[in-house]
Amino acid sequence: MSAVLVINSGSSSLKYQLLEMTGETVLASGLIERIGEDAGSVKHTVSASSTAGDAADETFRGSEPVADHAAAFRVMIEAFASHGPSLTENPPIVVGHRVVHGGKRFFEPTVVTDLVKINIEDLSELAPLHNPANLDGITAAQVAFPDVPHVAVFDTAFHATLPAAAYTYAIDRELADKHRVRRYGFHGTSHKFVSEVAAEFLGRDLEQLKTIVLHLGNGASACAVDGGRSVDTSMGLTPLEGLVMGTRSGDLDPAVLVHLHRRAGLGFDELDTLLNRRSGLIGLSGRGDMRDVVEAGDSGDEAAALALDVYLHRLKHYVGSYIAVLGGVDAIVFTAGVGENSVAVRGRALEGLERLGIRIDPQRNASGERGPRLISADDSAVAVLVVPTNEELEIARQSLSVI
Ligand code: ADP
Repeated sequence: MSAVLVINSGSSSLKYQLLEMTGETVLASGLIERIGEDAGSVKHTVSASSTAGDAADETFRGSEPVADHAAAFRVMIEAFASHGPSLTENPPIVVGHRVVHGGKRFFEPTVVTDLVKINIEDLSELAPLHNPANLDGITAAQVAFPDVPHVAVFDTAFHATLPAAAYTYAIDRELADKHRVRRYGFHGTSHKFVSEVAAEFLGRDLEQLKTIVLHLGNGASACAVDGGRSVDTSMGLTPLEGLVMGTRSGDLDPAVLVHLHRRAGLGFDELDTLLNRRSGLIGLSGRGDMRDVVEAGDSGDEAAALALDVYLHRLKHYVGSYIAVLGGVDAIVFTAGVGENSVAVRGRALEGLERLGIRIDPQRNASGERGPRLISADDSAVAVLVVPTNEELEIARQSLSVI
């Protein structure tokens, strides 16, 4: 057995998955939320694949205070002990950690050492909401699993191949360099995984394929992948740039900030909150979940209809610009919560692009199938696919690859 434990540690949550890597199956997964609050919640799912016979997945839920990340790991280990599978029978040989910001320094999965932790900490100024929480998870995991290597897998790493023309902001270079201001890109683990699955599904050589990946979740980003390498992506210095998201504005004239500061008296913290938490779908329509936005728009809610229009306009804008950046495209791939599930978003995002060789088949698009699938018509020059992302599996693979 070669089990890998994958950890995604947020400021108040801990997500985990135990995978058996010989057959790449999930043995168990879980989510501990509201860490640091009076009542924490615990969810632990034992996968059917980890038990004998044809049992279904079984989920156990509980509620108890979880003081900090160290306590969350104790709760997780208790959940494995009480509900299975046994960590003694399936001891992880490596623990893989999702780390959001790797800056310029980390462009591949990296075995965690004290120096690596110092560097992750140092990058916190570029990802203040994420890196400190990722680091808390690593430190707690090292205490809980002291005898195995821990590997950090960075969301930014896949975009290390961006050319300077794509990652450089057209501002004063000295100032930008001094403060590490450039485009880094995020969701890299997902963009990498999804573009590779797409090539495999199409039976095409990844090296020869030009792909646009649209990762549309609560956060959303587009990525132009040429021969397996990221050559452009929509998120920038932080995950705020680019597409319209659940609560984030995406692209904006930077002068809007200056204007709102001068005219509306908004300070920088307020602007930060406005753009990251009160913009995007929620800012435009009061609804941050795409299901609600589509439903309200269909029932005549004008604000929701406009929110969806703005979302789709921006998406199409990126598809068009990435076709130009790549010099053509072989495959467009939808992934993450919205991309995998929203028939309406997929259908409308690529409407009117027939002259570019992009034609969706409405029946294929509406099929309830899961798994990687083709949704373009047979006469579409460009293959349009839905590929469920699996960041945990990608982190597990990458973590194994370096030990
Ligand atoms: P995260 O970025 O938090 O990982 P996900 O990739 O899980 O998010 O995507 C979550 C989002 O997916 C939800 O906020 C919701 O808007 C959207 N979503 C999920 N199911 C559907 C659906 N059937 N139709 C439209 N949108 C959906």
